[in-house]
Amino acid sequence: MAVDLLEARGGGSDQAGFAPYAASESNSLGRQHAEPPDEFRTLYQRDCDRIIHAAAFRSLEYKTQVMVNHADGSFRTRLTHSIEVAKLSRTLARALRLNEDLSESIALAHDLGHTPFGHAGQDALNDCMKEYGGFEHNLQSLRVIDKLEYKYADFRGLNLTFETREGVLKRCPKEIAKTLGPLGERFLKGGSPTLEAQLVDFADQIAYTNHDLDDGLRLGFLNLKEVRELALFSRAYDEAEKASPKLSRHALLHEANRRMITAMMVDLILATQKRIEQAQPDSPQAVRACPDRLAGFSNELRAELAPVTRLLHEKYYCHDHLARATNKAVGVIRELFSAFMERPRLLPTELHQRAREKKEARGEEGQARVIADYIASLSDRHILAEHRKIFDMTG
Ligand code: MG
Repeated sequence: MAVDLLEARGGGSDQAGFAPYAASESNSLGRQHAEPPDEFRTLYQRDCDRIIHAAAFRSLEYKTQVMVNHADGSFRTRLTHSIEVAKLSRTLARALRLNEDLSESIALAHDLGHTPFGHAGQDALNDCMKEYGGFEHNLQSLRVIDKLEYKYADFRGLNLTFETREGVLKRCPKEIAKTLGPLGERFLKGGSPTLEAQLVDFADQIAYTNHDLDDGLRLGFLNLKEVRELALFSRAYDEAEKASPKLSRHALLHEANRRMITAMMVDLILATQKRIEQAQPDSPQAVRACPDRLAGFSNELRAELAPVTRLLHEKYYCHDHLARATNKAVGVIRELFSAFMERPRLLPTELHQRAREKKEARGEEGQARVIADYIASLSDRHILAEHRKIFDMTG
């Protein structure tokens, strides 16, 4: 029976069809706490499932991607962004004969550490935590999966595979890397993560570049004239218009967006394939040993992408409308952080207890970390409700 089940999930531990440099069950560096293999699912499918069942994943639904708490639910949130990244990542992995399940688990977890209110929220929380070790969303994603999700009988965190954890940790300061064992090594000695992880970074960029252009145009923060000056977009738009001249503006924009995503995906796959052929890695370890990343766009695409990113920064991410919402968000985080620091009993009971224990063990810094973890875990809606509750109460 066991043999049949292995067959059913892809021919056992070394799934047929993988490239030698793909991560697989036979070359995985495993979990922190050993667990028997699942009867039905691969190692990385199990990681995906644990992430989807995490409270931090559900909170992504009401966490800002760019727009704060917009009444129109058709704009992207962190949840829809993460799903888009996961789907693009699987396509990239499949095209390059990599492990699709691993690429999905990294993508699903990549934004779990984000605070409410997007990057403004993270900057505000980092500022509050200045004297207590700071706050960085990337490190927080690892903290969420390793420590903060706490619901399994045998361990804290989700006990995900080394490869998923490695992929989630994109950046890490040296002092922290020293405390992470093998996971921190590449930040001390150089090297790269698996190809699956490298490609998720680019899937992230393809997803946000395209959905932010789409959202920015629909909100009217970007206008079609300036977007059509971007070679990457205008080529896609012209092709779409030529193929279907009678399309409505709405459908034409969607067609252009779709073609631009495809162009970026094809370029990424071909340019990465070329670098793989040159480097000839024969295992994930050989990929890790490469000092330069093997995944990446061609130079031509990188040159065309730069003005797109610039326009998004100037006209969308820094739009006045967003700046007002951002200022409000920053105020909410600062006020809540100080209120909790001064009066930790305002925290939910269980966390109040934890803050007290951490303060006894590690002083103010311990208490501040519990508060930062709590604030980071809240969605935009939840933090506003929490702020109202506390400031109405304390007057
Ligand atoms: Mg992202």
